[in-house]
Amino acid sequence: MPKRPPVFRPSGWKPRTAWARPASWSDPRKRGRAGQRDRAQVLLEEPFCRHCLAVGRHVQATVVDHILPLEWSRCDERWNKQALCRACHEEKSKRERAEGEPIDIAAQLARLKAEWLGSTT
Ligand SMILES: [Zn+2]
Repeated sequence: MPKRPPVFRPSGWKPRTAWARPASWSDPRKRGRAGQRDRAQVLLEEPFCRHCLAVGRHVQATVVDHILPLEWSRCDERWNKQALCRACHEEKSKRERAEGEPIDIAAQLARLKAEWLGSTT
């Protein structure tokens, strides 16, 4: 009966484990390839800036914006994303910083989700 040769390991050796997002990362934003794919998908679905389109202008969208900022809503889902042009995004960000977090953010998020799910089915 053949016997396996002994395996010598340095002290403190541990088997490798696959990389996983550390629990200490509180930011729910998708990064790397998953994030790039999501951004590309939003820009594909919405080639024009939403805010500009609302006033009848066709401006190419270049930024994927969280309608309710990620920091407040903790929501990185499709219904919380929109395509904007850079000018509109900067204006929106400025306004959000000035106004601060709305008190009814959960209700706003629920409405966005309902609208999104209603529009795609
Ligand atoms: Zn715009």
